[in-house]
Amino acid sequence: MANSDYYATLGVRPDASQDEIKKAYRRLARELHPDMNPDPETQERFKEITQAYEVLSDPNKRQMYDMGGDPFGGAGAGAGAGAGGFGAGFPFSDIMDAFFGTAAGARGPRSRARRGRNATIRVDLDLRESAFGTTRELVVDTAVICEVCQGAGAAAGTHPDTCDMCNGRGEISQVTRSFLGQVMTSRPCPQCGGFGTIIRNPCQECSGDGRVRTRRTIKVRIPAGVEDGTHIQLAGEGEVGPGGGPPGDLFLEIVERPHDIFERRGDDLHCTVQIPMTAAALGTVLTVETLDGAEEIDVRPGTQSGQVITMYGRGVQRLNESGRGDLLIHVNVETPTRLDAAQEELLRELSKQRGEERPPGKFAPGQQSFFSRLRDAFNGR
Ligand SMILES: [Zn+2]
Ligand SMILES: [Zn+2]
Repeated sequence: MANSDYYATLGVRPDASQDEIKKAYRRLARELHPDMNPDPETQERFKEITQAYEVLSDPNKRQMYDMGGDPFGGAGAGAGAGAGGFGAGFPFSDIMDAFFGTAAGARGPRSRARRGRNATIRVDLDLRESAFGTTRELVVDTAVICEVCQGAGAAAGTHPDTCDMCNGRGEISQVTRSFLGQVMTSRPCPQCGGFGTIIRNPCQECSGDGRVRTRRTIKVRIPAGVEDGTHIQLAGEGEVGPGGGPPGDLFLEIVERPHDIFERRGDDLHCTVQIPMTAAALGTVLTVETLDGAEEIDVRPGTQSGQVITMYGRGVQRLNESGRGDLLIHVNVETPTRLDAAQEELLRELSKQRGEERPPGKFAPGQQSFFSRLRDAFNGR
């Protein structure tokens, strides 16, 4: 029966107690520890006994396994002593972490090349530019690859030396005792910083960093419809990394300057126009500024103060979409303040004709509730 393979791997009987399984594993683990036995066959054998122990030391997994189940979801249950059994999905346990470090297989010196940082620069736009998009030439302070050493950091004709403290491994191993016997732990080499090499003759141009600071000009296209706070990502336009690493990204942060006339709310624009009382009563044609230039709008006879005239499609271009927002014109009706004698006479005559000499002062719809709310607030209700 294939299911006996894990028991055979650990050299215990199928009815072995948890204690016997643990003892068998400890004995084998000491014998086969990969840091003591670097040859691949022994390492493979070590993985097998660890996998067997993973299953048999856990009562749930052991029961599943005894019933013919597959605790690793096809990654090797019942594979026996063969080479299989360590699929990519193998869940590394604490024990495996202790033996192999947190990232098994990722050991060795780390590369000097690292990705460069992202950078952000502010771009001030006026409303027209953010509404319709624009092109800008931006001067950015950044880091570029050192032309002298091509990012390697070593002076011309020299090479980094292998670190003599870690022998190029980039890490220092330490043996500690645990219940399993000796366990190897590793930490980055303090002499080389984990790189495994030391640059004894750094490049004069970049002092060994592999990059130099510079100022360059880039031309960017800013799409229509951006607004205050929009971030535009320019992939790979940030500074290059140390050691010739790939560049980070450059972010443009849009700052929109307030406009004299228009207030932007999303893709819509709002403005207020003042019209004389007579024009509001009689109706008129107004010339208003829009982002597209001066346009004429009809003010209908009897227009009230506070009424809104909408000019569809005269707002801001929608970002990454077709269409534009609207321009909403709020009408403010002006009451004349300085009347000469003739004008006053005319208005009095109009007032008499309309029977408005002693208007009743009706509440507008909605105002009663406003005043009653106010009264309630005063009365503490
Ligand atoms: Zn250099
Ligand atoms: Zn070192």
